[in-house]
Amino acid sequence: MKVSPNSQAARPTGHYDVAILGAGMAGATLGAVLARNGVKVLLIDAGTHPRFAVGESTIPYTSAMARIIAQRYHVPEIEPLASFRGTLARISPMSGRKQNFGFVYHAEGSSQQPEQINQLVIPEWQRTECHLFRQDVDAYLFHTAIAYGAEPRLGTRVTDIEIDPADGVVLRADRGEEFSACYLVDASGYRSPVAVKYGLHEQPTRARHHSRSLFTHMIGVKPFDDTAAAQSHKQPIPWHHGTLHHVFNGGWLWVIPFGNHEGALNPLCSVGLTLDERVYPRPDLPPQQEFDDFLARFPQIAEQFAGATPVRPWVSTGRLQYSVTRTVGDRYCLTSHAAGFIDALYSRGLTNTFEVVNSLAWRLIEASRDGDWSTERFAYIDRLQQGLFDVHDDLVYSSFVGFRHYDLWNAVIRVWKSTSILPTVAVEKALSAFMASGDEQVLRDLEKTQTPGLPAPVGQDIGELLACTRSLCGRVEEGVLPPAEAADLLFARIRESAFLPAPFELGVPENRFFEATPALLEQVAGWGRTAAPEHMRALFQR
Ligand SMILES: Cc1cc2nc3c(=O)[nH]c(=O)nc-3n(C[C@H](O)[C@H](O)[C@H](O)COP(=O)(O)OP(=O)(O)OC[C@H]3O[C@@H](n4cnc5c(N)ncnc54)[C@H](O)[C@@H]3O)c2cc1C
Repeated sequence: MKVSPNSQAARPTGHYDVAILGAGMAGATLGAVLARNGVKVLLIDAGTHPRFAVGESTIPYTSAMARIIAQRYHVPEIEPLASFRGTLARISPMSGRKQNFGFVYHAEGSSQQPEQINQLVIPEWQRTECHLFRQDVDAYLFHTAIAYGAEPRLGTRVTDIEIDPADGVVLRADRGEEFSACYLVDASGYRSPVAVKYGLHEQPTRARHHSRSLFTHMIGVKPFDDTAAAQSHKQPIPWHHGTLHHVFNGGWLWVIPFGNHEGALNPLCSVGLTLDERVYPRPDLPPQQEFDDFLARFPQIAEQFAGATPVRPWVSTGRLQYSVTRTVGDRYCLTSHAAGFIDALYSRGLTNTFEVVNSLAWRLIEASRDGDWSTERFAYIDRLQQGLFDVHDDLVYSSFVGFRHYDLWNAVIRVWKSTSILPTVAVEKALSAFMASGDEQVLRDLEKTQTPGLPAPVGQDIGELLACTRSLCGRVEEGVLPPAEAADLLFARIRESAFLPAPFELGVPENRFFEATPALLEQVAGWGRTAAPEHMRALFQR
């Protein structure tokens, strides 16, 4: 993207090219990118920074997207966010490291089976993902945006929005202020005033998945590795070096430590319990009592929390899932968390946020230069967001059904790996090509996919595998297919999936750990050049 001086310098003050509602991760990142590229931006938020937020665990795809945004839009301040070391050194020394995704399966009433564990190691020689201490990160991004010239309005709640498709948007705030803009980005999260005003929420949501959550930050959480249950675990690296998921029929519990590295300053740990509200209806109890009652049912999980206390009030939600009929309309766009939400499982929230920022930003920059704010220009963003929503729904829905029986869960987790690893390879490949050539077209080409939300050339294959997984899990939920049989069928389907790199051995049930060692990647590169389906070969060419 070429940087040019502000094309709208002649407009009166109080009028903006783009008004961004919400200065969280989405709004602040977009604000920084737009302001850096000469767009006149208003960044408005009811609250102030720093402030508590969840969405702490990054995945390789999140980091790849952060790097793409930093490079493509010339915002070097975003680049450190793409790695744990960068985040620690430049943004937040209070953040933790994520060297693995760990999953420990529990069946209520029986002892945890030491072989019912799964771990995906993030290889240290390659990268380290992060447990972001969001209050630091969000404040940093916000300050980056205003340093580039975005105009801040904190402590300003927008109470009314008026949109004229021909002319633009007027925002009215609680203290009588009025702002106008050519375009409105609603990055306000789940309360989205645009969705409310224009009746965009799907009622009920189309999400198959059901869950609610209670979460807080705690002190005194013991590493699970030090508990009795973990003594017979043979996973490659300690659970506490990454994000730990305790999974069980009806839900999962996240443990995201910030103080899990040498020289750590932050003793806190993010803890969240996510439950299918149909299996665990919300009780009329304080959240701490509900958490304690839950731990009483799972004493092997409880050991980790024996000395733990919350350092801030619990947040207890109703059903988490919501969606909108459209995320783009005349003169407005909702960004991912305002547009919908499924579940924190697999930590895809920030990834989706960055993916949307990446595709939205260049359109807004061009519109601010040529004055074409037509809805058609932004149509892809809607397809992308609806696709991201549905992919995540299929994945989490199937996982929760999988939680009923370890064998099925052990199969479904391979499908998650396929949605995670190959798309990351695809976007990293595009980033390398962009860095080598400076040709932005390679990044625009990422949008040429038949399956928005899953990048080419693997999107179609993954989409079909996901559909098959969802259908098998649907039959389990209906009670017409026993979970163990569904597991066998899904493993068979995985083994038949020619697009899954054979050296990964995802179809072998006993292969419960995944670690991309240099030797394994060498084998995969060989497979990619010689045995992979034709349409995928380019992904593996050096
Ligand atoms: C329980 C839970 C766990 C999660 N865990 C993960 C995870 O591990 N990894 C991950 O990647 N993602 C996770 N997510 C998703 C992640 O939290 C979101 O993707 C991300 O925080 C969204 O950022 P945002 O900037 O869109 O919204 P927010 O951070 O919610 O910011 C919205 C801002 O808009 C402002 N606002 C709202 N209404 C108005 C108004 N009327 N006027 C002015 N301002 C307004 C608010 O004050 C707020 O500052 C999780 C989400 C939940 C609910």
